[in-house]
Amino acid sequence: MSDTHVEPKPTHKPHAIERQMPEDALADVMGGALRQEIKVLDHGFIALVDAMPRLVPTPEGQTPTADGAIVQAARVSYGQGTKKVSEDRGLLRYLLRHRHTTPFEMVEFKFHVAMPIFVARQWIRHRTANVNEYSARYSILPDRFYVPSLDEVRKQSRSNMQGGDERFKIDEASEVETAQEFLDFLKDVEALYPRYMDLTEKGVSRELARMGLPVSIYTEWYWKCDLHNLLRFLSLRMDPHAQEEIQAYARAMHDLVQPIVPLTMEAWRDYAFESMHLTRLEIEAIQDLARGGQGAFGSENRREKAEWDAKRQRLGL
Ligand SMILES: Cc1cc2nc3c(=O)[nH]c(=O)nc-3n(C[C@H](O)[C@H](O)[C@H](O)COP(=O)(O)OP(=O)(O)OC[C@H]3O[C@@H](n4cnc5c(N)ncnc54)[C@H](O)[C@@H]3O)c2cc1C
Repeated sequence: MSDTHVEPKPTHKPHAIERQMPEDALADVMGGALRQEIKVLDHGFIALVDAMPRLVPTPEGQTPTADGAIVQAARVSYGQGTKKVSEDRGLLRYLLRHRHTTPFEMVEFKFHVAMPIFVARQWIRHRTANVNEYSARYSILPDRFYVPSLDEVRKQSRSNMQGGDERFKIDEASEVETAQEFLDFLKDVEALYPRYMDLTEKGVSRELARMGLPVSIYTEWYWKCDLHNLLRFLSLRMDPHAQEEIQAYARAMHDLVQPIVPLTMEAWRDYAFESMHLTRLEIEAIQDLARGGQGAFGSENRREKAEWDAKRQRLGL
């Protein structure tokens, strides 16, 4: 403290604070780790760097989890009840099934992520998180580009205008040639990096020089999100309709939070991720089948019919 430092005058008489100590010792849901990291793609990662609650009362011999924070908040609405784990599980499952969402907002996770810019563009659409990104105005973007391996190059899907699913056959000469040509194209684009460096060294501002870099270059951010919105992110981005590269991050994110909120994740799989939404037309088709009919479907829309066919197959109808 310098000699000139003057303590600020208190704005009011300080309050007496009552402290309640837990019955069980507090334990860290991250097991004392500074970060828990999973490598994703060729140069990317997702690291869990903090959680709320981080410290939870944990009976001897039990693994600390944050599910209790959801139950604690829910009991404000439903009363204390009993506190057995089996009843916590039942309450969590009820909440998730009935989309009583706000108790799930009581748990938060903070991640440090490195991903290609084209993945970040999809990710940033999830507006309910708090984000702080690497500034390519302030700093030079590091020389890290996402390049899929030859056997990961996907063809444009014929059924889904937005997707690529089938791989190029790397044991067929004409196919491997096209896949290789694509990788060569990425190499050419990467070769622009020395020019980016050169121009910034000559005095072109970083905020303009970056315009010449491709969206395969990696960026980084801190991303903090509550569990309710994180589950929504996972539902959309672990889904096979999401681009494979963002799916890879979503699956890694899932694996980082799963041990911290195991009961919630179990309920999410049962009632959201692996569940099925049925439209009125689909319910009527099932009713028609149950009456011994052919399962007449009340729409001629090709896409809608294909979606119903997929659900029907899953239902074994
Ligand atoms: C497979 C796939 C394909 C996609 N294709 C495209 C595409 O072609 N073009 C495109 O632009 N986007 C596309 N998206 C992005 C998509 O439309 C959503 O923007 C993105 O998934 C974020 O979803 P969200 O709005 O539910 O998430 P969040 O932004 O996290 O919002 C969660 C929920 O919070 C509420 N909310 C958040 N912000 C507001 C607000 N300002 N006002 C009111 N309610 C709010 C809404 O209920 C919202 O559903 C695609 C997404 C997926 C998964």
